[in-house]
Amino acid sequence: MFDLLLTNGLVVTPSGAHPLDIGISRGKIVSLRATGLGSPDEALRVVDLRGQLVVPGGVDPHVHTNSVLPTAAESGIKCFGPDRVSEGAIYGGTTTLVDFAHWQPGDELADSFKRKSAEWEGNTYTDYALHGTFKEPEIPFEVLEQIPDAVAAGHGSYKVWMTNTTPTRPKQKTDLGNMWGLMEQTAAAGAMLAVHAEDDDIVMYAYKKLQHQGKTGLEYMHHAHNNLSEKLSFQRAITLAEHVGAPIYLMHVSAREGVDAIREARGKGQPVYGEILPHYAYFTAEDYRQENGAIYHTYPSLKSADDRDSMWESLLDGSLSTLATDGVCTDLEVKTRGRTILDATGGHAGVEMRMAVAYTEGVAKRNLDLTRFVDITSANAAKILGLYPHKGAIAIGSDADLAVLDTTVDRRITSADLHEADYTPWEGYRVAAWPSMTVLRGQVIVEDRQLQAGPEGTLLEQHVSSDVRNRPAC
Ligand SMILES: [Zn+2]
Ligand SMILES: [Zn+2]
Repeated sequence: MFDLLLTNGLVVTPSGAHPLDIGISRGKIVSLRATGLGSPDEALRVVDLRGQLVVPGGVDPHVHTNSVLPTAAESGIKCFGPDRVSEGAIYGGTTTLVDFAHWQPGDELADSFKRKSAEWEGNTYTDYALHGTFKEPEIPFEVLEQIPDAVAAGHGSYKVWMTNTTPTRPKQKTDLGNMWGLMEQTAAAGAMLAVHAEDDDIVMYAYKKLQHQGKTGLEYMHHAHNNLSEKLSFQRAITLAEHVGAPIYLMHVSAREGVDAIREARGKGQPVYGEILPHYAYFTAEDYRQENGAIYHTYPSLKSADDRDSMWESLLDGSLSTLATDGVCTDLEVKTRGRTILDATGGHAGVEMRMAVAYTEGVAKRNLDLTRFVDITSANAAKILGLYPHKGAIAIGSDADLAVLDTTVDRRITSADLHEADYTPWEGYRVAAWPSMTVLRGQVIVEDRQLQAGPEGTLLEQHVSSDVRNRPAC
């Protein structure tokens, strides 16, 4: 007897899209068979998903919660916590979020994971994992040496910054030497290293020059966070990774130069993975000129139409691997307080729209294959961060995390449809798919746009496979 049987949906498995019935017991997928072969009596509950698309619950590998917003540092304003962000995610068909556990000087590495996990536990509608995160110029050897134990305990990914991002923020850059040491440890321990790559020298000089010229409006953001910075920093990070033999995950690729650097490294067999943000694949730096242009901004920055187009080329040809949000959820008033290159808040509310935008822009507009849609919205992030195949696959034995999408819709989305903030950069955006049900480990959490169950998400262990660590596997 199944706990739940989902019948008649078009189900996207690793081998393609097929009409299948999905049998679920104790939170796992235990049966996949051709539609119509079973009897409804076999399950406590049967849901007919005729005409609906069923894909693995989304995995968003890059969200921030409860972070003090650097530009609002004096007031101590933080972005929203796991409760709000995970609510948006689960409504949007995403069932796993990956946040950041900041190591602070004086911490044992394990303390940073415990501290961040305490913020999530009991407050999340999705499952979650945590990138160990270093925002310090130097990482002491004693801390680096704790990485193997942390990896063995299931903390399989880390993040580091190559820039302080703006001249006005608290310092967060780790220099290349310390990054080298960090890479040696993560590679040896079998972990993935995520990198915020920007060339600090170029970015800080560009800020100085723009300030000198009086060009500090938001519309100059891409002159500070520019293509040269992306080219130099990606090449340096990739060269260092090649020297060490380390797998790396380059977050928020924003320029054609970044795409090219990743494509070239992967062509040589290097395990380098790239992440795209939906708005980098849709908006351009011209949108900074709109009223409330800040709502489109995430660091590094939006760039030209050619850069935007390179995002989709690379998602279609497989050079880049994931679609993340870099979600930093606040209300509009907070998001638009900063209106210059010096004080704009990065990140925005986008978690709930990610799956629908990926389907609309990818599948509906560009003929993206359905398995590739799954790759970029869940499977690849799960593989790169060591969550696969528990997450990111509709397969026997996988967690029953499912997003059901109604692909017959044609509607415009407004912020009133959404849950993570009081605004959306996608206001008025016309979707070709909209989530109708989200299932987490066999439990229906959202149905007919209503929450059905409480926040019972749990911390996931990450164990990155040797395949992913040794070659560009996805
Ligand atoms: Zn970043
Ligand atoms: Zn981020």
